[in-house]
Amino acid sequence: MTASLAWLKQQLATIFLFTAIGAEALMSWLTDYVRPRIRGLLHREVPDNLWTNCSNCNQMILTKELTRSMNVCPHCGHHMKAAVAERFAWTFDEGSWTRIELPKVAADPLGFRDQKRYNDRLKDARSKSHLDEALAVAHGKIGGQPAVVAIMAYEFMAGTMGTALGEAFIAAARLARLQRAPLVIFTASGGARMQEGMLSLMQMPRTTVAVEMLKEEGLPYIVVLTNPTTGGVSASFAMLGDVQIAEPKALIGFAGPRVIEDTVREKLPEGFQRSEYLLEHGMLDMVVPRRDLKETLARVISLLTGAPKNGAASPDVVAKPEAV
Ligand SMILES: [Zn+2]
Repeated sequence: MTASLAWLKQQLATIFLFTAIGAEALMSWLTDYVRPRIRGLLHREVPDNLWTNCSNCNQMILTKELTRSMNVCPHCGHHMKAAVAERFAWTFDEGSWTRIELPKVAADPLGFRDQKRYNDRLKDARSKSHLDEALAVAHGKIGGQPAVVAIMAYEFMAGTMGTALGEAFIAAARLARLQRAPLVIFTASGGARMQEGMLSLMQMPRTTVAVEMLKEEGLPYIVVLTNPTTGGVSASFAMLGDVQIAEPKALIGFAGPRVIEDTVREKLPEGFQRSEYLLEHGMLDMVVPRRDLKETLARVISLLTGAPKNGAASPDVVAKPEAV
């Protein structure tokens, strides 16, 4: 009797165990497999990043298509902003470039605070942009020719110029001198960084001296102005290039059009402060669409350094210019 009772108990325990396992398996099958499929049938989720709206003509563009067209709207030709990594990839020969580490400076020299602490603003900008500052520098090859390229990041506090940016620019110029290579800079800036007050304005003469150093060495300094390039940056290193190139319809100027209109009390002409207007008035050498920029840079570098592009003899090669 005792033995059969024990046997019964064992059977019950086994049934209970299997039922528990079965129930658990059934539950996980329902939650992991059936529920997501039902959910998928009810509302097919469209990823947010599949389409992008053009900020100029407001037409929808397939994000993949926009990536292929280098962030240029296929409908109206509007040149949208580009991230630093994209610019490097578009400019250098594939696999030829290396980013350099930039000098560290005191993060918040004035202990500045408005609605937010400057330090917190910097932290936010760093985590959002995955950049240390508003300027990134790399060296590599453009059309087979060595070059140092600096790219301003508008996504980092509107590409404003503070001490770190000034130091980064000087580091880029020094690297160009060390490598006997031209320096190419893509500008995009809202101007001086007000959180650094006077120290920010001091970067205007400092970067100007760095450009002068390149000119003394006879090394080409090429500027590519992108939308927008304003304020202290447009009043210093952005307008000192041996060759001044701009992307189409980029806003380039010191003060904004409204400030000027209020000051001169006159209506400004159509297209004022845009690349094409500046080209017409002798402030630029050329306006080049983004898809042709790399080829143009390779040609300009070849012309200025006398180096054959891609190792081939170029008929339009000129003698290396003497130091200015
Ligand atoms: Zn458009």
